Amino acid sequence: MATNKKLNKLGIALVGLGKYASGQLAPALKETKNCYLAGIVTGSSEKAEKWKTKYEIPESNIYNYENFDSIRDNPDIDIVYVVLPNALHKEYVIRAAAAGKHVICEKPMAITESDCDEMIEACRKAGKLLSIGYRLHFEPHNQEVMRLGQDKVFGNIKSIVADNGMEGTEGWRLDKTLAGGGPLMDVGIYCVQAACYTTGMEPVAVRAKELPKTKPEIFKTIEESISWEMEFPNGLVASCKCSYVEELNRLHAEAQKGWFELSPAYEYKGIKGKTVLNTMNFPEVNQQALQMDDFAEAVTNNRPSPVPGEMGKRDVKILQAIYRAMETGKKVQIKSSKYSLI
Ligand code: NDP
Repeated sequence: MATNKKLNKLGIALVGLGKYASGQLAPALKETKNCYLAGIVTGSSEKAEKWKTKYEIPESNIYNYENFDSIRDNPDIDIVYVVLPNALHKEYVIRAAAAGKHVICEKPMAITESDCDEMIEACRKAGKLLSIGYRLHFEPHNQEVMRLGQDKVFGNIKSIVADNGMEGTEGWRLDKTLAGGGPLMDVGIYCVQAACYTTGMEPVAVRAKELPKTKPEIFKTIEESISWEMEFPNGLVASCKCSYVEELNRLHAEAQKGWFELSPAYEYKGIKGKTVLNTMNFPEVNQQALQMDDFAEAVTNNRPSPVPGEMGKRDVKILQAIYRAMETGKKVQIKSSKYSLI
């Protein structure tokens, strides 16, 4: 087969051309150094036509969900990036690995921990790398928070507050079958991530409470807002909240000798940070471009991704525990991961 591969760059195929793929990932792939947009997988022939012209994608690199498995025979595609509704991540990660491709999967990795196990095993068996779309690990303010917390620059952290929310959502995010849950799965996962990377630990127990619905006619199968607490091994507690009816975007850590915080903390752009001593001053970066370039580099150099499937699984385990705590009203213990992660 004639190859359209660009010199020295790995080819990425985006699966699911929704808001995130079209608004963030495809534009970011114009700025990447180690990879480029080589192909697409879509259920929409209209989108296929548009993308073909806009991004100069050859017809032979355009797939639908039925013929997706034949991507195996396409040397232009090295990496498949799954950007579908949450409940579809598992099937397409497993199919991508079986087709011999490295995989990036959007957050949350899947709906259950056992789904994550199957995805990790499929990639392991195929000898392919798997990573999660955790873009903030490549963002300088969030990286600074990791340094301040994990290196105990202000001493041991005593408490964390992490909130993330937005006013309004639509489509599959309102459907528990496709989303796996409500704002906790979608935006609360950033608070779970933040508490883990700020402390460098994983929680040992959680408590959670669903907040009363103000729009029960919209949030029929999912929570509208939820608050929860994550208890870490040294007794530190992270108090978190997420919502689909309130704008929230903050990470605050109180340590023995001072505090540090990001607000907004989890956006694509405009993240701002402060500490008890000063205001953070880091450049604006294209998070998605850095994230995809790092993965392409990991593939090329055969090294692990800093945001591997195991981290996605750890977070899904925590999300499931939070839902169990919400449903039972009881504190739920969490078993620690075998794989050491921050
Ligand atoms: P959208 O609804 O905008 O797009 C999802 C796309 O998936 C659709 O456009 C469609 O693409 C395809 N699709 C296939 N089957 C279905 C189905 N049954 N119902 C709906 N869509 C379907 O979602 P987003 O782009 O906002 O989110 C996609 C994933 O990316 C989610 O897992 C989300 O959590 C994650 N995400 C991550 C972000 C981050 O910052 N890391 C930010 C936003 C989202 P097509 O028409 O091409 O087939």
